[in-house]
Amino acid sequence: MRISQKLYVRVAFSITIMALLVSLITSLFSYISGLEEKKTTNYSLVKQLAETIQKTAAISAYLVDSELGAEITTGLLSNDLVKGVTLSGDSEMLLTQGDINNVSEPVSIQLMHPFIPDTQIGILTLYPDDIYIQQQAQKASEKEVLLMMVHSIIIIFFVSIVVHKQLSRPLQKLTDDFAKIDPNMPQTMQMLSVKKRGKGEISRLITGINSLMHALQQTIRNERELRTKTEELESRFRLIFEQASAGICLLNEQNMITTYNPAFKSHFLVKGETELSSLNFPVLLNNSEKLQELLHVIRDKENAEQYTLDIECTIGTQTKWIHCLFAKLSEQRNTLRENQETLIEVILHDVTERAEKEFQTRFEADHDVLTYLLNRRSGERELNNALSECIQNDRNLVLMMIDLDKFKPVNDNFGHEAGDKVLTEVARRIKNRFNFKTDICIRWGGDEFLIARQIESFDQKQVMAQAQQMLQDIELPIKVTDKNSCDISASIGVVIGPSHGEALHELMVNADNTMYQAKENGRGQVVLFKNK
Ligand code: GH3
Ligand code: MG
Repeated sequence: MRISQKLYVRVAFSITIMALLVSLITSLFSYISGLEEKKTTNYSLVKQLAETIQKTAAISAYLVDSELGAEITTGLLSNDLVKGVTLSGDSEMLLTQGDINNVSEPVSIQLMHPFIPDTQIGILTLYPDDIYIQQQAQKASEKEVLLMMVHSIIIIFFVSIVVHKQLSRPLQKLTDDFAKIDPNMPQTMQMLSVKKRGKGEISRLITGINSLMHALQQTIRNERELRTKTEELESRFRLIFEQASAGICLLNEQNMITTYNPAFKSHFLVKGETELSSLNFPVLLNNSEKLQELLHVIRDKENAEQYTLDIECTIGTQTKWIHCLFAKLSEQRNTLRENQETLIEVILHDVTERAEKEFQTRFEADHDVLTYLLNRRSGERELNNALSECIQNDRNLVLMMIDLDKFKPVNDNFGHEAGDKVLTEVARRIKNRFNFKTDICIRWGGDEFLIARQIESFDQKQVMAQAQQMLQDIELPIKVTDKNSCDISASIGVVIGPSHGEALHELMVNADNTMYQAKENGRGQVVLFKNK
């Protein structure tokens, strides 16, 4: 059942019920009051009838004319309202006609003497027909009620038509039109038709709905355009994120990786695994402390500066160098949710190749290509640093200047390549004897080597023993060709910084001189510098 029909039926039904109820109540009142009124009227008519005939009846009583009296009573009895009549006079005249029993209100009227005033000569009594009067009054009242009912029905009918035409039908049409509208289907959002120059409430309602719908259409259109644009933008950003060659990830306040792109995953995926070994960023990069410290600093900084860090990390069996760019996501970029935690965006690149090249270049710049010991330039820098540290910390720097004895003949006898082999082997023996990381081993030039070691306090015996051991190492035979090996010795000059020179230059001159002194003393020996 449609709503409009329901409304129409409901309105018509309500009007009918209300009108019938009202008309029933009024009819009941009207019936009750009308009945009494009609009865009273009929009784007064009986009285009027008696009064009309009063004078004639008085004459018949005066004349004691029973014939006239009988005519009068017969005449009165012919009226339907009267069912019995008695006419009595002074003398023995008493005429009775009709039924005089069971009458509720007999109408008696005095018959006066025609010539002597105030002298009663008889009584005329009329007996109204109660049943007839009751019936008549009922009939009249019933007719009235019937008329009233017909009247009400006609009113109900016309009121219903008017309500239907003016209210139900326009509302039904409006509801039907409105029910067809589906905001998800723009073609259904047609404007509702409104009467031309209509100023009624319904017209105003339709105009209101139309303007609302117009505004809604506009909003939906704008929303749709915005959504399309957002979706396009989102897919582009997604494309950038998904296909970026750089690894991108977001870190929450616990430094946990919340989001990452495929490139990020590929950087840290251990061979044979499908998932990252850890979502804790510092742990994943096996650089917990340093990274945690940096991330803490980034979060504490108010401005959203960018930080870069090159990190060496081991992934499975591989060692990689990762260049990381950190940026704190500022409020402006991230106001979607309230109480948002501070996220850190990390963009990273695998720079292993570049780092290796840089190491190689730096290594080549700092090392001798034949022996892989420090070259003179970088050696000098290291020596300067070591000397300063020793002066600062009240320590000593032992310097051993080693020059191979009679090296030229090796070149001459076995060739330059054989000479190179000797130099390489001597360098290897130096590296074996000394700590390549804490001691400074330099190829000073040609067949000259320089070793420096920091010591807490100078112990001559110990230092000289070390130099002697070095000399013994060098003096072991060196195989230069398949068939030949050669014996080589060295002259070693030992100086102690800063006691034998506070400046490196001074120390070097002293070391050189001491080494030459060893040469002069007959080569193959260690000489300690002595202050003159
Ligand atoms: P001395 O005992 O006085 O030191 O005599 P020596 O023959 O060792 O003479 P000196 O130290 O002055 O000469 C060093 C030689 O080392 C000169 C050069 O021919 C040779 N030499 C320098 N650099 C290289 C090199 O890279 N490879 C080879 N094979 N020989 C080199
Ligand atoms: Mg030499």
